[in-house]
Amino acid sequence: MGAKLEALRVLQDIELQIVDIRRQLAAKQNGAKRQAVRLKEAEEALATAREDLKHTQVELDALDVEIKGRTAHVSRLRDHLNSVKTNKEYAAVLSQLNNEKADATRLETRLFQLYETVEAKKKAVAEQQAAVEAEAARLQSLRGQLDQAQNSFKQRMELLERQRAEAAAKLPPKERELFERVSERYDGEVLARVVRTHPRRDEFMCDGCNVALAVERANALLSRDDIITCDNCGRVLYIERS
Ligand SMILES: [Zn+2]
Repeated sequence: MGAKLEALRVLQDIELQIVDIRRQLAAKQNGAKRQAVRLKEAEEALATAREDLKHTQVELDALDVEIKGRTAHVSRLRDHLNSVKTNKEYAAVLSQLNNEKADATRLETRLFQLYETVEAKKKAVAEQQAAVEAEAARLQSLRGQLDQAQNSFKQRMELLERQRAEAAAKLPPKERELFERVSERYDGEVLARVVRTHPRRDEFMCDGCNVALAVERANALLSRDDIITCDNCGRVLYIERS
């Protein structure tokens, strides 16, 4: 490998380490972002469950008031029954009293159902609350891991960036520009090995994209320190002399 290629290889080695660190940090960042969405969803579900409970509670309270009113009416009718003068009046009040009592019984059944519904909804709210706490704890843990990773990578990243600048400075501008362009495209994978595809014939291909390479280009690589890029993928080719 010639000097220019060797300089590119050094730069690539550094670049690949930087790309790897960035990838690890991005994965942690995405994990924390996804978890923040999950927490928000759990919080929304909790708000809905609370609202639902509140509505049932309001319905229950209103029914309770209504039953109290009817019970008071029943006892007024009972008092009235004792003071009626005629049989006809007695029968009328008694009928009214029985109707009211039947209504009250029906409403009490409904009240009992609502009590059970409220209990069930309270349980649902408590469960959703626990789910929110679990998601929040998970988010905190993921953010902690991200912070930790950022801190532990910080020094290494600074060192790599310095090394990268030094290695890039050793390249002529044209090669540097080529490196940046290919690196951008293939996440730091700038160099591609040329491999012989047949043990006895002069047939070669680019190991980066698996496309065949003209024999003259492979020969040029073997004989001179030229920067040759793959016609297909654009990576910088190198060949290992056996
Ligand atoms: Zn290629």
